[in-house]
Amino acid sequence: MSYAIRLKCRECERTYPLDPIAACEECWAPLEVVYDYGKLWADLRREDLASRPPNMWRYRELLPVAGEPWVGHQTGFTPLVAAPRLGAALGAREVYVKNDAVNHPTLSFKDRVVAVALSKAHEFGFDTVGCSSTGNLANALAAQAAAGGFKTFIFVPAELEPEKIIGTQVYGATLVKVQGNYDQVNRLCAEIAQKHSWGMVNVNLRSYYSEGSKTLGYEIAEQLGWRLPQNIVIPMAGGSLITKVNKAFEELKKLAWVAPARTRFFGAQAAGCSPITTAAKRGTTEIEPQKPRTIAKSLAIGNPADGIFAVKTILASGGAGEDVEDQEIVDGICLLAETEGIFAETAGGVTIAVARKLIRQGRLNPEESLVLAITGNGLKTLGALQGRLAEGVLIRPKVEDFDEQFLSTAATA
Ligand SMILES: *Cc1c(COP(=O)(O)O)cnc(C)c1O
Ligand SMILES: [Zn+2]
Repeated sequence: MSYAIRLKCRECERTYPLDPIAACEECWAPLEVVYDYGKLWADLRREDLASRPPNMWRYRELLPVAGEPWVGHQTGFTPLVAAPRLGAALGAREVYVKNDAVNHPTLSFKDRVVAVALSKAHEFGFDTVGCSSTGNLANALAAQAAAGGFKTFIFVPAELEPEKIIGTQVYGATLVKVQGNYDQVNRLCAEIAQKHSWGMVNVNLRSYYSEGSKTLGYEIAEQLGWRLPQNIVIPMAGGSLITKVNKAFEELKKLAWVAPARTRFFGAQAAGCSPITTAAKRGTTEIEPQKPRTIAKSLAIGNPADGIFAVKTILASGGAGEDVEDQEIVDGICLLAETEGIFAETAGGVTIAVARKLIRQGRLNPEESLVLAITGNGLKTLGALQGRLAEGVLIRPKVEDFDEQFLSTAATA
């Protein structure tokens, strides 16, 4: 069962019942799910979780789904990988990779949010669902809507990576390619949502959907032996994930499931779309929208819905925002792959490159524990590496050719 009790406006604190509502009617700010932590604290021990199956629903009391989850039964509980070789390359002592590149079923952290959104859509009785997306959300929604028996409309910017287009259409979803960037797609999606009684994941289901991101935070704490990391680097698009991992850590402290230690939150973006890190660097919550121009398309949101809250999270934690150029993103992808055998998409390259930059700048303490959030799979953004790796050597099917090409220098050495 869930301990969710109501929705509350993040700005004016007006409360609402647990209905499909897009935003506060008074001030248009996002709505937050509120839980009865006192009752939860009395009813549930963290030890009670140990025997539950390894998926995101082991934290179901802290999610807003009342009954049985409708989809995503295998989603979450991805590996937290100790990464000593990457740590050595970064000059950091205790590094972990939270690897959502292998999340089920579509290889990104968006599977978590969609699992909650569609379970909620089922409870509300929606038969049609939709979203606007920079790619991974489209994949996750299309797959889980197919498994959950929903009709699906998905709105994406027309110039999305082909892997993400195919990885949406294959599930039978209706893909609407819109001439424009994500922010224009999102506005169109919100207008369409108003006309139909559909479950729009990032419109009228948004406050539920975003709660799914908290499970990434619960898992990190549990996988560290119910301990919070001292530092965490998280890639940001709309700024929801970083905000919700912070909410997860605060909840765990409230429940006394972890010691009340401080975690510094470091938000990562591409230089070509950096509205949140730019604000964080200036120390202001004023977000100036940008026109995205980066290979990190999954992070290319120029007008981030949760940008203000992301900046607040970063600044209040004593962390920082930082951004990196496209070449550094590619280098970050390669560094993670070569040291730990994990192939991340461009967003993961952003995380690694930002961590490296912050350590070099002396702004991230390399003696402290550090978790790097890898949120998507490299096979979905192959184009980013096209022409950036050495061409393979072509030989005839002859041993002499092999020896000559690959062993001649070793033989003479
Ligand atoms: C959507 C996405 C993010 C960022 O999520 P927000 O909650 O919008 O900040 C990070 N990484 C990947 C791979 C994503 O698809
Ligand atoms: Zn309000």
